[in-house]
Amino acid sequence: MCVTCGCNHSHSEGLTHEEMHALGIAHDHEHHHSGESRIHKVEQDILLENNLIAARNRGYFEAKSIFVLNLVSSPGSGKTSFLEKTISELQKRIPIAVIEGDQQTDNDADRIRTFGTPCVQINTQNGCHLDAEMIHHTVTGMDLKEKSLLFIENVGNLVCPALFDLGESKRVVIISVTEGDDKPLKYPYMFESADICIINKIDLLPYVDSKTERIRENALKINPHLIFYEVSATSGAGMNVWYNYLYDQVKASGR
Ligand code: MG
Repeated sequence: MCVTCGCNHSHSEGLTHEEMHALGIAHDHEHHHSGESRIHKVEQDILLENNLIAARNRGYFEAKSIFVLNLVSSPGSGKTSFLEKTISELQKRIPIAVIEGDQQTDNDADRIRTFGTPCVQINTQNGCHLDAEMIHHTVTGMDLKEKSLLFIENVGNLVCPALFDLGESKRVVIISVTEGDDKPLKYPYMFESADICIINKIDLLPYVDSKTERIRENALKINPHLIFYEVSATSGAGMNVWYNYLYDQVKASGR
């Protein structure tokens, strides 16, 4: 159940009124002001608790020099294909493990395991994001190596995962050129909270209206610190720069 974000719940169980506005979530204005402070308190408590567990996760990852990437995007941006390509190239050089988040099915985890990569699937059922507690619980049962990479593929959703720190080293938002140039403006919270923006499917640029310059421009309006990688997970274009970045991060960790 998605208690905090209210995706499949009424407003009274979800975000505050102001946050619904900020996130652009449609809601009923005839809500109950009498309950609002209580709701706000519940939501604050949930996010505070999440942040505390995220800090514990981060400490654990740092102690073991594990570089952790939280991959977030809309459904269909190519997260899993991007991950497959990255694993196939990099796991010869660095130990890699994966946590897959989806509402239902083990499909993505099965894809990852064909590479022989350790992978745990989390099914969130009605929930539309992973949280720090789920990661804490999952990591406890994994044999993560020192100086390794851990990819966390979040549930495909550009709204709610923005609110939940998992303890990752870097948050990576993936946008494909087929999604339109204005995605960063429509989902500013996600782009604001990300460190890295992967612009994927650049092999399809000749067939779509999007320009990578316009995606960058819009994303930088939201977050001037974003670092970009323009890639095609299908053709492999641009992927070498990405592999080198990850390799350098893992090699430099724990020095
Ligand atoms: Mg996927």
